Amino acid sequence: MSEQVRDVVIAGSGVAGLSAAVYAARADLNPLVLEGDEPGGQLTLTTDVENYLGFPDGVGGMELVQQGKEQAERFGAEFQYGSIESATFDSQPKELSLSTGETLRTRALIVATGASARWVGADGETALMGNGLSTCATCDGAFHRGDDVVIVGGGDSAMEEALFLAKFADTVTVLHRRDDLRASEIMATRARENDAIEFAWNTELVALHGSSEEGVTGATVVSHPDGYPAAKYADGVDVEVSEIAVGGVFYAIGHEPNTDFLRDTPVELDDSGYVLTADADESWATTETAVDGVFAAGDVMDHAYQQAITAAGMGSMAALDAEEWLNSHLAAASETAASVPAEADD
Ligand code: NAP
Repeated sequence: MSEQVRDVVIAGSGVAGLSAAVYAARADLNPLVLEGDEPGGQLTLTTDVENYLGFPDGVGGMELVQQGKEQAERFGAEFQYGSIESATFDSQPKELSLSTGETLRTRALIVATGASARWVGADGETALMGNGLSTCATCDGAFHRGDDVVIVGGGDSAMEEALFLAKFADTVTVLHRRDDLRASEIMATRARENDAIEFAWNTELVALHGSSEEGVTGATVVSHPDGYPAAKYADGVDVEVSEIAVGGVFYAIGHEPNTDFLRDTPVELDDSGYVLTADADESWATTETAVDGVFAAGDVMDHAYQQAITAAGMGSMAALDAEEWLNSHLAAASETAASVPAEADD
C-alpha cells in the first residue's frame, strides 16, 4: 500500500469526473482520477454532441472528453488506469482497493462512476454502437431526420425517447418484449396518441445490420404472442422472424449505476443502486453522501436528467463540496493536534 495520502481521489473519467477534476485541480487539491472500465464514460459512445453549451457546431463525444482531460491535466490533475473494487470508509484516511491490485489512501472521494446503459445483446450491436445505434435519443435523435427508427423498451425512458424521436424521424417503432407497457400511464398515453409512433408488441431485436460507414440499415426482429420472443427463439421455439429496414436504433431498456464497490459500505443507495445524496431539506442541492468526505456526481446519483451538461455541473459541485469539507476537516484535525500538549524539551 502506498504511504501517500491523497486529498481527493475521483472515481470515473466521464464528464462528471473530468469537471470535478478541473475544479479540484484548480483548488490545488492535486486530484487523482481513476479512469474506470470505460475511460471517458458514455460520451465516448456518442458521435456528435450538439446540446453541450459552447459548441455551436457540435463536438464529438470523444473530443469533448479528451479536451476535458487535457483541461484537468493543465491544472495538475493526475490520471491513472483502474477502477475501485472495494472501499473502506470506517477510518480516516479512506482506503480504496483497485482493480490493478493497488491500494490507495485518500481523505476525500468523489464518486463519478456513472451508469452504464443496458444493451440488448443483439448480434452486430458492438460494431454499430455510435454508428446508427445509440443509447441516448436526446444526444443522437436529431441525426435521424426523415429516417424510420426503432426504439427498444417499454418503460418511461422508451416513451420519452420515442416522443423526442418523433420530432425528427419519419416513423418511430417501439419494440417491446411484452404487450403491456411498464411506462407510467401519462407517458404511455402521450406516446400512444402520437401519430408518428407505432408499437410492435411481444417483439424483440435479435440482430442489427449495417456497417460503421453506412450506419444501421436493418434489423432482424422476432415476435411471439406470449411475449419474450428472443429467449424462445434461442430455445428453438417457433417464433415469427422478420427483417425490417431501419435507419436508426435506440436502446432504452434502463441503466445500471456503477456502484457495486459501494454495496458493502455505509454509502446509501436506492433500490436501483443509485447513490443517495444528503436530504434535500438540509441543503437544496448537495453532492454529500451518507459517508463523511464521500461525494457523488453525475449519472451514478442521477437517474432523472442524465445529460452531459448536468453531469458536468454536478462534478463541479462535488469538487467544491469536497474542497469545503477538506478545509473544515483539516482545520479541525490541526486544532486537535494543537490541543495535545507538546512534549517538553530537555
Ligand atoms: P425501466 O422502467 O426499468 O424500463 C425498462 C424497460 O426495458 C422495460 O419495459 C423492460 O421490459 C425493458 N427491458 C429491460 N431489459 C430488456 C431487454 N433485455 N430486452 C428488451 N427489453 C428490455 O427503465 P427506464 O424506462 O429507463 O426508467 C427508469 C426509471 O426512470 C423509472 O423509474 C422511470 O419511471 C424513470 N423515468 C421517468 C421519466 C419521466 O417520468 N419523464 C423518464 C424516464 C425515466 P419489461 O417491462 O418487460 O420489464
